[in-house]
Amino acid sequence: MKYIVFACLFCVASICAMAQKIDYSVSFPHLEHHEASITLTVSGIPAEPAIFRMSRSSAGRYATHEFGKNIYDISASDKDGHPLPIERIDGDVYRVARHNGFVRVNYTLFGNYADGTYVGLDETNVHINMPGAFMWMKGLDNLPITISFHLPAGKAWTIATQLKPTADPGTFTARNLQYFMDCPTKIGNLSWAKWNISNPDGKNYEFRLALEANTTDSLTQAFAVKVKRIVQQAQAVFGETPAYDYGTYTFLASINPFVKGDGMEHRNSTMISTPRNFNGADNQLGVFAHEFFHCWNVKRIRPKSLEPFNFEKSDMSSELWLAEGFTQYYGQLLMVRSGFETPANWFNNVGSFVNTKENTPGARRFSPAENSRHAVFVDAAVSIDKTNYGNMFTSYYTYGGAVALALDLTLRTQFHLTLDNYMQALWKKHGKPEIPYTIPDLQNALAGLTKDDSFAKDFFARYVYGHESFDYSNVLGPAGLQLQKAQPGVAWIGRAAYTDGKGVTVTSPTTWGTPLYEAGVDVDDVINFVDGMPVSTQAELNRIIAAHHPGDNILLQYTHRDIVHNVSLRLGENPAYKVVPFEETVNVASVTTWIARGATATNGGMLKINKTVIGTTGTTVGSTITYNISVTNTGNLTMTNVMLNDAGATITGTNPIVSLAPGAVANLTATHIITQSDIDAAKELPQAVKDFRASWIGNKIRE
Ligand SMILES: [Zn+2]
Repeated sequence: MKYIVFACLFCVASICAMAQKIDYSVSFPHLEHHEASITLTVSGIPAEPAIFRMSRSSAGRYATHEFGKNIYDISASDKDGHPLPIERIDGDVYRVARHNGFVRVNYTLFGNYADGTYVGLDETNVHINMPGAFMWMKGLDNLPITISFHLPAGKAWTIATQLKPTADPGTFTARNLQYFMDCPTKIGNLSWAKWNISNPDGKNYEFRLALEANTTDSLTQAFAVKVKRIVQQAQAVFGETPAYDYGTYTFLASINPFVKGDGMEHRNSTMISTPRNFNGADNQLGVFAHEFFHCWNVKRIRPKSLEPFNFEKSDMSSELWLAEGFTQYYGQLLMVRSGFETPANWFNNVGSFVNTKENTPGARRFSPAENSRHAVFVDAAVSIDKTNYGNMFTSYYTYGGAVALALDLTLRTQFHLTLDNYMQALWKKHGKPEIPYTIPDLQNALAGLTKDDSFAKDFFARYVYGHESFDYSNVLGPAGLQLQKAQPGVAWIGRAAYTDGKGVTVTSPTTWGTPLYEAGVDVDDVINFVDGMPVSTQAELNRIIAAHHPGDNILLQYTHRDIVHNVSLRLGENPAYKVVPFEETVNVASVTTWIARGATATNGGMLKINKTVIGTTGTTVGSTITYNISVTNTGNLTMTNVMLNDAGATITGTNPIVSLAPGAVANLTATHIITQSDIDAAKELPQAVKDFRASWIGNKIRE
């Protein structure tokens, strides 16, 4: 008896070890109704109930998504095709209680939402994000997976995916469930482009653009040349690309009106969907830059909080300000470095980052780490009740971008380092060896790079764990940028949306810290009188406010659910900033820099010439600048007949100067009428600013 038991155990164990296998088979009998037919076959299942489930989150999405809602017609069978009872034990969980180690589950999948998270099945194409489509068996996460796609007959479709190819063009493998879930797959009438990029170690990687769009081959190829440029600029940030699994990186891109706007990063690919007609223009590239930067930052420079990714619930991380925010910063930076976005646009972005940090309630009240943790509720999450996000949440994308900007400019101005150097340090320490990081690791990397522990500790305490204001104006100066109030001296009531009617109805929550908020006004309240005058339109409201100054008190009468409130409201000044480049700040001082070039005097000798502006009629072409020219004899001989010349100027006073004794000073007055070339010369950037900008936003690839 004992012997027999042992023999059986051995027998079961060896069957499990030898035959454990997971296969998916996908076919498309009803694409016109947005359905696919999926078969999951698992063999070598341990002798206990088999639990199958749909995911509740998706690689790179942090909130929960209920993928179990879109599968039906679920059945199970054994190896011989005999039905097995399958019981739904939770919304998205199924159990096969009895089996012989082999279970085949069939189900229908519905999908009509092509983006970076869900599934789009259509007679024109198949667009699959794995967690949204594939049921999986619990406990077998580490088994390799094989998947076969059976394409509809009569269509010349191709398959784009980062799954490992096999000899059969419709069959692919994944080394485990985590990798499988990270492999979005696009099938359709795809337009392909391919190119190679080498790393400094000599290894060569193939890049592929698989484009679903109304395009021509030449348009696709031209667009791919642009994408290649972004790839090279990103490579230049880190010094190398990652070593892509199976030697390839694939851009799966849908640019057509039938998809939903999104972009999702993966280890060796990205799923991009842009709901516009494809035209190959530069402004269709931004999402490519952002998503591609992720193949370093988040896929390999990986927060420990996301590793491994939990597909059964939301995935909370305190590090999205870096994972998403720094990627946001670099996505835009790569666009300007590639020449696809103008410096002027970049400076506008800089202004947006500053306003995000300094003027949004979420950033003024909570740290980037805290805002990151809120992603479990905001990252494409769905809810029907109202939230107060406008007053307590700031996107970790733009907030993180603002931190990236602060750190980049601080490294440049204080340490002769750049954020590129910091990203390289993170890559070497965490990305390349794939050692997931924590926030203390990020602080250590900054301390190591700057060789300044107290700076790193202070920066993280203030701006990562804390939410202190950052002095951007200090660090923007060397880049030739000025931080200015967007609407100085203009009375301001606060940000809110309104509708006109019987009174002015506030239709958005009022914003924390604004006059309207402090006065107690909030969404759905109706403003009836301002300053004693009845108002029924937003335009009237604005007109009354505009007649005041910041600091004035005004009376406001509003009703809240029929209760009348009379309040005194102290008007403020709009706190919004704008970033103004040096080139746009041309003023008297800068226009008159031209006079530093110029004046000379005949007779040579020991003369010192000084010029000082004493008046101007304006700073535009045709305005007159009046200035004083003082001529000092610094030698020890008296000079006579000193003739002063100043190109473009009319000199009044005695010229030539009859006689100038040693140490004597002669003052003459000159006028100059401003020309276009003066203004152009005044806009000429100082060399230090040119150098700063070249290092910051200039091309980083060797042509
Ligand atoms: Zn992202």
